[in-house]
Amino acid sequence: MQTIATPAHILKTIFGYDSFRHNQKEIIDLILQGKDALVLMPTGGGKSLCYQVPALCLPGVTVVVSPLIALMKDQVDALVLSGVKAAFLNSTQSNAEQAILSEQLRNNELKLIYVAPERLVGQDKQFLHFLQSISVSLFAIDEAHCISQWGHDFRPEYRVLGELKDAFPNTPIVALTATADGLTKKDILLQLHLHNPQVFENSFNRPNIFYTVKPKRGYYEELTDYLDAHKNDSGIIYCLSRAATEKLAEDLVEDGYQAAAYHAGLEKKIRDERQDQFLKDEIKIMVATIAFGMGINKSNVRFVIHVDLPKNIEGYYQETGRAGRDGLNSDAILFFGGGDVIKLKSFAQVEGNEEQTKILLKKLDQMVQFCETKRCRRKYLLNYFGEPAVDNCASCDICLGHRTLEDATLISQKFLSAVARLNEKFGAGYIIDVLRGSNSEKIRAEHKRLTVYGVGKDLSKDEWHHYAKELLHEGYLQQSNSEYPVLQLTEKAKSVLFKAEKAFLNSPAKQIVTKEPIIFQKHAYEKELFENLKRLRNKIAHEENIPAYIILSDSSLLDLATYLPIINSDLPNISGFGTYKIEHYGTAFLEMVQDYCIENHLTTRMDLKHPQRKKQIRIVKEKETETKKQSFDQYEKGYSIEAIAEERGLSTTTIENHLSYYIVKGQLSLDEFVKQSHQDLIKKAAEKFGRLSLRKLKDNLPDSISYGAIRMVLNSLTTNES
Ligand code: ADP
Ligand code: ZN
Repeated sequence: MQTIATPAHILKTIFGYDSFRHNQKEIIDLILQGKDALVLMPTGGGKSLCYQVPALCLPGVTVVVSPLIALMKDQVDALVLSGVKAAFLNSTQSNAEQAILSEQLRNNELKLIYVAPERLVGQDKQFLHFLQSISVSLFAIDEAHCISQWGHDFRPEYRVLGELKDAFPNTPIVALTATADGLTKKDILLQLHLHNPQVFENSFNRPNIFYTVKPKRGYYEELTDYLDAHKNDSGIIYCLSRAATEKLAEDLVEDGYQAAAYHAGLEKKIRDERQDQFLKDEIKIMVATIAFGMGINKSNVRFVIHVDLPKNIEGYYQETGRAGRDGLNSDAILFFGGGDVIKLKSFAQVEGNEEQTKILLKKLDQMVQFCETKRCRRKYLLNYFGEPAVDNCASCDICLGHRTLEDATLISQKFLSAVARLNEKFGAGYIIDVLRGSNSEKIRAEHKRLTVYGVGKDLSKDEWHHYAKELLHEGYLQQSNSEYPVLQLTEKAKSVLFKAEKAFLNSPAKQIVTKEPIIFQKHAYEKELFENLKRLRNKIAHEENIPAYIILSDSSLLDLATYLPIINSDLPNISGFGTYKIEHYGTAFLEMVQDYCIENHLTTRMDLKHPQRKKQIRIVKEKETETKKQSFDQYEKGYSIEAIAEERGLSTTTIENHLSYYIVKGQLSLDEFVKQSHQDLIKKAAEKFGRLSLRKLKDNLPDSISYGAIRMVLNSLTTNES
């Protein structure tokens, strides 16, 4: 087919990425040859680019079929923010709006149009006939499993898509889905009448999701410990019932967390509002039933926690799959308790349908096996979906040895007998003090003569607290409901104390580890800067009223905080900075990095990014913006940089950056800002010390030369060289 740009060029300039992932390249090439394809890729794998890149390479419009309005809007917003002409067509729009879109389509002004299936083929095929009168290059069917009744999410309205191929025999169709078993796959190909399609399958593995299963008993404390350690992250907590979501959200809010409940029983207005706030990071924690999540494209969900047992592996996989779409490390934590199994077993009874009951019970049983397995959890999941896997994934609780049970009989006996000797009247802290032979007057005076006094000196307080929790989790102890909860022995404890039964507990190393994002990040990053960049992004998102992750993904911010770009020409080498994003947001983020580097005496680390290709400089032509123009106009009127900064409430750095743009364009002369003699000094210093650190240059130049002057000269140098 005729193309107007190469995929690699589009990937870099529009989306700001260096290389294709998985088999994106092969898929795109096949589509560009005009052939049909079915793409199976896990969530976060990068399905969208498989049709968005061809859409921009091909001359006509690409029609994307998507089941959910929310999803369409999100995708279109993201595309528009990358400078792509995209729109969606749905029932929420007025006739006038729709007429404008038709006009744009007729004039071939749109590269992508998103529509719902019933819109595409329904209404006497009006729209289909309209499309036949314009130039359509490609059809992309998102969530293609919805067409099959063998899939887990059949939507009858998808069935009409079978007519597409007959109406457009020469236009390629690409169908995409994240979940489809063998039967569903075949059915998709059949239903869509694809011509000689090629099927692209990717692994179901989500390497950046870390799977953990923990005992459910007393989970709340563990949950809040986790949330405390992840204060800046957002995530989803799944509960089984509507009431449970409200109760847990309420508790969390009371304890100071930014949480809200979400379930199908809430008014639509409230649901939409909360979802929107979640997307915008204004609600960090969504406590939800499974009604929440379908169509949530938010890429920076850092954790998915199940406090109740999911009904089957498919559901669990899909829900946990909402974490970590941006490729950064994320957690999937499940709190597992036997009580849930009993409850779910009763739900699985389908009256008058023994066969289905059997299937549901079997699926539940497989879910329980996942929780109870002593082998790699990732392997269990992958095998479940018919995929081979290595024995040790090194990133689940089992493989990291978090559940290596040790014989803790002696330790348990010590602790449990202390509980008994203290007449079941104290909490863990006090008991541990006694065990460790505390010198506090009260304890010495009252308990010195107990046999358990001081027998636990060999372990630290933290280790004892760990074992106390374990004994509680494993049911050797229970906590009273009184105002000051005290520990009491259970029947199970008595068998360890009096019948010499062994107790097996997890070793202390097993706390949920706080992990750094490492997957695509080979180097350490500046944590504080990363958080500041997130705040800046949130501020911009708030001003522009769009979700933060659409402006830049967490992984782009991480790239900034890792490689510390300090001059304009560094930006194209930061992941996610395509031309449009550089033009619109480049300066704001760059300034923050620059200032951070200056304050903290840091040099840029851009050379770590492409060590093999040293100094690859590519200048992206900046665009004139209203704010730059204002600074320029005022400068032309004779105001000084300081005066403009003052009047506009901006920093002098910002004004200098604005004016730099006009220097590069040749409308202002560098000489106006930096004396020729200073320019020479700066150039010399740059030759001698390199351009890696603004601070270093500043320290080696006379005080009278400002950072602004240095930046302006460096910017003009890289521009002249390219
Ligand atoms: P899916 O639809 O398969 O769940 P998306 O298309 O939403 O996944 O992609 C997930 C994330 O990965 C997005 O933020 C996307 O921009 C990013 N991504 C996709 N392809 C690449 C690539 N080749 N390089 C870097 N990031 C990519
Ligand atoms: Zn594992």
